Amino acid sequence: MLLLLRPLVDAGHQGKAMVCADGCVRRVHPILAAYIADFPEQCLVGCNKESRCPRCLVKSKDRGDLEECTYRSMVDTLKTLQRKRRNKQSNKFDMEGLRPVYEPFWKDLPFTDIFACITPDILHQLHKGIFHDHCHDRVTPRDSARPLVCYRLKSDRDWTPPPLRIHLRSDN
Ligand SMILES: [Zn+2]
Repeated sequence: MLLLLRPLVDAGHQGKAMVCADGCVRRVHPILAAYIADFPEQCLVGCNKESRCPRCLVKSKDRGDLEECTYRSMVDTLKTLQRKRRNKQSNKFDMEGLRPVYEPFWKDLPFTDIFACITPDILHQLHKGIFHDHCHDRVTPRDSARPLVCYRLKSDRDWTPPPLRIHLRSDN
């Protein structure tokens, strides 16, 4: 990734002449603004353990609480990683749940805050995490182990309401 994004370092600082959609040539400064990845990769990019948040400093046991938490800082994270590399011991390294990625690819990228670039993992967090693993298991027909049937419409005239024999169950 470091090699792949290396051209962005100079182009981001000095700009690069590019042809725009209207045909005019303009000096642009391409920057990394979003990083779309699944959760394990987000943690690797953020140099943190997978039990921690890749964007903020919330503790493992407090994840999911609605409390505001301090965002991770690139400068602080890089300092802590370098300190850990030199001394092998760092309380801050352990407290922030970091892991030893001493040369993160984003360290020289201009105008980039990698922790702000990380987007929600829609596939795993929303689709699989909430709808599949959480809701799907709880919304099934009561008298059958069959999963909830999806109704596909050919046209508006074909629409029929789904049967109302769907019951919610709770693990409590
Ligand atoms: Zn967080």
